Amino acid sequence: MDRTLETFRLRVREFAEAEVAPLAAQIDRDDEMPRDLWRKIGEAKLMGITIPKPFGGEGMSYLAHVIATEELSRASGTVGFAYAAHSNICLDNLFKHGNEQQRKKYVPGLLSGEYIGALAMSEPNAGSDVIGSMSCRAEKTDNGWIANGTKKWITNGPDADVFIVYMRTAPAEQGSRTITAFLLEKGAKGFRTGPKKDKLGMRGAGNCELYFENCEIPDSHVLGEINRGVSVLMSGLDSERLILCGGPLGLMQAALDLVTPYLHQRKQFGQPIGNFQMMQAKVADMYTQFKAAQSLVYRVGEEFDNNPGRGRDAAASCLFASQAATQLALDAIQIMGGRGYMNEELPGRLLRDAKIYEIGGGTNEIRRIIIARELLKASKPAA
Ligand SMILES: Cc1cc2nc3c(=O)[nH]c(=O)nc-3n(C[C@H](O)[C@H](O)[C@H](O)COP(=O)(O)OP(=O)(O)OC[C@H]3O[C@@H](n4cnc5c(N)ncnc54)[C@H](O)[C@@H]3O)c2cc1C
Repeated sequence: MDRTLETFRLRVREFAEAEVAPLAAQIDRDDEMPRDLWRKIGEAKLMGITIPKPFGGEGMSYLAHVIATEELSRASGTVGFAYAAHSNICLDNLFKHGNEQQRKKYVPGLLSGEYIGALAMSEPNAGSDVIGSMSCRAEKTDNGWIANGTKKWITNGPDADVFIVYMRTAPAEQGSRTITAFLLEKGAKGFRTGPKKDKLGMRGAGNCELYFENCEIPDSHVLGEINRGVSVLMSGLDSERLILCGGPLGLMQAALDLVTPYLHQRKQFGQPIGNFQMMQAKVADMYTQFKAAQSLVYRVGEEFDNNPGRGRDAAASCLFASQAATQLALDAIQIMGGRGYMNEELPGRLLRDAKIYEIGGGTNEIRRIIIARELLKASKPAA
């Protein structure tokens, strides 16, 4: 890890410890992330890590973005998760595919935290098979597009001002060039958001359905090319998987931060439980899992910055890190015994937050499919 990235990590950690960690329990309890915190993250210059400097961003690497997500997630799983959805899957995608006018209109507000961003591809009947089963549809009119359908479980949906939304714009039978990405603003005619969903973890990062009822979308809101939404979607998915890996890494750090002092503090049989070899083995395994996940994610992050496009490696990082985070949260509960099982303590929240990383952004089963498919394709014998 080069010095610039280590300095950057310390800067984010300082911010996260001062501004995010004190709010974490309350955000989870109230299921609400204060709007003001978005602006503070913007003022700390963390929204546009991968956005080039001339456009107001930091012009840094995807690995730096992973580190920012990791440090924010260490302080609050929710904040790291909502932040990644905003800064990577909305803002980074919008920047990569937006034209000059679109960048000018949306990028400054997303960078400052004045706007909150979201991205919507999943639907009630289109989850893992999101491309094949997408039924949200936009029909071309003389003046633009008319969209109909429902999107589901959209992170930041209840609070977002700017949405990237994928719609079917040609018959599905015609293949992959039948989907278009659109930019949509809160309050657009015929567009409304559903109530915030009550969920297991990541409480405070709002999730809801989006409804399109003869929603009018101007031509100027097409993101990228018409019927080329799949390439917009696929180009974003690898970086999304990578940036999301910062989430489980941060949650694992939080689990280790919690249990190492506890092993000294808690005494049984007249001595700290950290003296017992089975407890030592558990914390050693936790650390090893964390370091293995962090090393894999950082290595893949470095490679991704030089040569994006190896989908299997981003999928492998996410698969490994997400499983490890769930396991570390369970280990933290075990080390803390009955106390670890109480809702007022941190390990339960870490477990609830960690589990989403095995599902969101493509499930671990789909990640295994991506890895195996690429490996088998590469090793296929010549006919
Ligand atoms: C908290 C949260 C936030 C989210 N945020 C967003 C967001 O911001 N934007 C967005 O667009 N979406 C979002 N999603 C949706 C998320 O991407 C989907 O939940 C995910 O892709 C899985 O789809 P699904 O839930 O419909 O599961 P399904 O596709 O119904 O899968 C159910 C089970 O079947 C398995 N399965 C499916 N197909 C196969 C197969 N071929 N082989 C083996 N197993 C298979 C899956 O792995 C899973 O275990 C979010 C979801 C949650 C819960």
